[in-house]
Amino acid sequence: MDNAHTVLTGCDVLVVDGLIREVGPNLQAPADAIEIDAEGGIVMPGMIDTHRHMWQTAMRGYGADWTLSQYFVWYYLEHGRTFRPEDIYAGNLLSAIEAIDAGVTTTVDWSHGLQTIDHADAAVDALEAVPGRFVLAYGNIQAGPWEWSARPEFKDFYRRRIDGRGDMLGFQMAFDVTGDPTFPEKAAFEVARELGVPVTTHAGVWGATNDDGIRLMHENGFMTPETIYVHAATLTNDSYNRIAATGGSVSLSTESEQSAGQGYPPTWRLRHHDIPVSLSMDTSVWFSGDLFSAMRTTIGADRAREHLEAHAKSETITHLHMRSEEAVEWATRGGSKALGLDDKLGSIEVGKKADIVLIKNDQSPVMFPIIHPYGHVALQANRGDVHTVVINGNIVKHENRLVGIDLAKAKDAVANTVDYLRAQLGEETWQKGMNPEVPETKLAENPYTYTTYDGGSAQWKR
Ligand SMILES: [Zn+2]
Repeated sequence: MDNAHTVLTGCDVLVVDGLIREVGPNLQAPADAIEIDAEGGIVMPGMIDTHRHMWQTAMRGYGADWTLSQYFVWYYLEHGRTFRPEDIYAGNLLSAIEAIDAGVTTTVDWSHGLQTIDHADAAVDALEAVPGRFVLAYGNIQAGPWEWSARPEFKDFYRRRIDGRGDMLGFQMAFDVTGDPTFPEKAAFEVARELGVPVTTHAGVWGATNDDGIRLMHENGFMTPETIYVHAATLTNDSYNRIAATGGSVSLSTESEQSAGQGYPPTWRLRHHDIPVSLSMDTSVWFSGDLFSAMRTTIGADRAREHLEAHAKSETITHLHMRSEEAVEWATRGGSKALGLDDKLGSIEVGKKADIVLIKNDQSPVMFPIIHPYGHVALQANRGDVHTVVINGNIVKHENRLVGIDLAKAKDAVANTVDYLRAQLGEETWQKGMNPEVPETKLAENPYTYTTYDGGSAQWKR
């Protein structure tokens, strides 16, 4: 993933003291070097997720059939406050381990459940307990950003837990801009500026954030190259122009946008405005923390849109815009550029940090033949094929098994959280939250006669 997207075959990568020292054929390694045989696999840079609500991994899969409205009601209005610091810890711990296991070496923890500083300490405790690279994006959906960012303990937390930790633990401020003409979020942007930290914001989310928020940010001078706009799905050209002109980037959570309803995944519009893209998977309350899925679904969404729009005009797409190579770029370099860490991460080049993933699975018919490496990563491989993961020069997964990571502890912590939440909510509320009503389907008018075959969806519907 260098600037020319060079693909090398039959090469070695030499890592010394956490850095990539040499890349090339037949390298000489020190006698005590650990050798990993990558024959038959693909060595790629560690993937980078720029937006993941890690605390929500404690509720993995609970919202599988939710819309965004149901998500907002459950977390923002009804039950988000129920989460204790240990529940934030539990979700973050499992999510952090999951990231590593899936070859995601850097993850932005879009942590908007930080109701108190104790919650924030718990979030960082979990991130520090796992040998991955993380960015804490500090947020709190239970208070306005102008409120929580003004509390003295917030700045104290930043100095105490984050400042000076280097590139293993970065920091952002995470909040949304509602478009309120009085722009109350201004005070929070000023705190970010004072601390010298980037802001990440859910922008262009249907029914929640819109062009007014972008315009207010722009008019007040808060749109910078470090700003990450999550989703950016329902904006006008004017907003995209403002994002492009100020050098910001968009974090696409295609699985989420498709399922929850933030808006159609906007790759086709970002391409038109030349806005940089990184990938993310948003939250494991719906989806798993897997950027192979993100790459695949992003390619699918872009191509589906292109075909659909052409067909509506009775035209045929003969050449695709979105390439598998682009998806791999977004899952790696896209993230390192968005986070301002491109001089350290995102590619396997001499001098960069050794965050490296080996995709290899000799037992899988899918890992052979490897003809088109980008296509193979984006559309063939999956998280089960992640054989080895190196982060900052440390082997954290090898031969498909995590190394030196206490998964049992994370599972115990999450089990406690699930038991606690289930008891707090009560069984009826718990079940109701997980099983939203299915709207009635109106059968199509059909001039032909229906047979008695009863294989339709009516059988299982409650
Ligand atoms: Zn989000």
